[in-house]
Amino acid sequence: MAEIVIRNLRKEFGSFTAVKGSSFTIGDGEFFMLLGPSGCGKTTTLRMIAGLELPTSGEILIDGEDVSQRPASQRDIAFVFQMFALYPHLNVRRNIAYPLVSQGLPRAQVQAKVAEVSRILGIEHILDKGVSGLSGGDRQRVALGRAIVRNPKAFMMDEPLGALDAEFREHMAEELRALHDRMRATTVYVTHDQLEAMQMGDKIVVMNHGVVEQFGTPQEIYDHPATLFVADFIGSPSMNTLHFEGSFTRGDARITLGGIDIATPQLREEALGRKLVLGVRPEHVTLSDDGAYRGRIEAAEYLGTTQIITLSTPHGALKARVPSDRVVRTGDAVGLTFRAERLSLFDAGTGRAFR
Ligand code: ATP
Repeated sequence: MAEIVIRNLRKEFGSFTAVKGSSFTIGDGEFFMLLGPSGCGKTTTLRMIAGLELPTSGEILIDGEDVSQRPASQRDIAFVFQMFALYPHLNVRRNIAYPLVSQGLPRAQVQAKVAEVSRILGIEHILDKGVSGLSGGDRQRVALGRAIVRNPKAFMMDEPLGALDAEFREHMAEELRALHDRMRATTVYVTHDQLEAMQMGDKIVVMNHGVVEQFGTPQEIYDHPATLFVADFIGSPSMNTLHFEGSFTRGDARITLGGIDIATPQLREEALGRKLVLGVRPEHVTLSDDGAYRGRIEAAEYLGTTQIITLSTPHGALKARVPSDRVVRTGDAVGLTFRAERLSLFDAGTGRAFR
């Protein structure tokens, strides 16, 4: 097992910079998510950690040792690809044993390791089956078995569940997470699915255009998005953002936006004179019959225990998550209150949050 430290990691492909100086630490035994939209540099980062791509500059330390320029074969990292390339002519047992056999391990040790891994994965009953007739889930388990069996320092996974349908994907995600909880092996996992990252990760790095936007626990990232990009990318529906007309000036005790009074600790000197954006999650908006700040109900989306109400406000569209037994009528005007202690405040110019 291993701690992996990334320092100012950069990757250029000709004149294009795919990763622009990332820094973060992957703790020993963590399930660590690299999250971001397509093309943001997640896979390139993962490949650099595994040694499949060499960085243009910056450092990768595994357990304190600088491995930045070492080939993959000298890093002791297992890579689990999206398309599981199993050997079709070998049965499950031989597929799992393959990495050990090719290392020249004695037969008895190979057998013991395969038995142990198949017990962990719950696939003892299919050991003698061919891999071509296996279900998607079992193929996934065999591929994992092959990665686990050689006991690497860390696992790299690039959208391993990407090819599965939604229901099955959720099941496999739970299984992977449970497996990780048992083994506690450092795992770096690439995904563009924010929900998957939130559900599975101990820590998340959110990337955009080759830049690390934020690094933290799922809760830190959800509750305190560091940038407007993260506010928009995390959460479904995402955080509402309301743009102020004026700016905060010295002597103002609070900002007033329509009927919203903001007297939060975020209103510090650094916010002076800046154009501000207020962020509020849909679940922190309450509908009331009175209230100074008003919106008009445009639509309601029923989700079972809650419903998502879309409203028009003087500052643009806004979504509220309210209990589904709240009766709403399209076209009605309602008062809106925001939970002051859960608001975020961003600099409209830089997109960064005031903390
Ligand atoms: P996706 O989810 O679509 O795979 P990603 O976040 O994993 O996206 P990367 O695969 O890391 O993104 O790619 C980041 C950028 O670098 C992309 O614009 C991609 O086209 C570019 N890129 C990646 N590998 C190379 C390469 N070998 N040569 C040139 N450009 C590359």
